Amino acid sequence: MSRVLLLNASYEPLRILPATRALQLLVRGMVEPVTDVIAARFRSPSITLSVPTVVRLQRYVFAPKRKASWSKRAVMARDNYTCIYCGIEVGDTVSGHSLTKGDFTIDHLMPRSRGGKNTWSNTACACGPCNRRKGSRTPHEAGMRLRWEPKRPRVGYLVVSGDIPESWKIYLEM
Ligand SMILES: [Zn+2]
Repeated sequence: MSRVLLLNASYEPLRILPATRALQLLVRGMVEPVTDVIAARFRSPSITLSVPTVVRLQRYVFAPKRKASWSKRAVMARDNYTCIYCGIEVGDTVSGHSLTKGDFTIDHLMPRSRGGKNTWSNTACACGPCNRRKGSRTPHEAGMRLRWEPKRPRVGYLVVSGDIPESWKIYLEM
């Protein structure tokens, strides 16, 4: 199922739509394309319609902000299965082995054994070796530098939906 990111007229991300729904909105002139990256093409005998991966509402709608709820899966999606310490990511090859999602783990910056909580700012994706090297120390104590600052993602439902297309990222401020 191809997914399309729906933006408000203000370019704030609102929700994810199936490409078929985005097509209806495009045909009715309610949204406009904001990227050349195509999510899906729909063909009829006479015409081919392309649906981009990001569309924007023509008219602003009021949408209260939702909070992203924490989960291990959501942290992994936020961090794109990339180690916050060494930067290796899923698909990279390390000593002849292609890394899978299972090679990554959730690291607690302040270790759980010392009261660290399951929060967006205290957790990040880490590879096994970095996770073991850090042990029950803070990154500072272990002399390990964070490659980014873990934060609550801006839009909740996006982080539970798995892989995030490249063309969405500038709108998600990730
Ligand atoms: Zn690592």
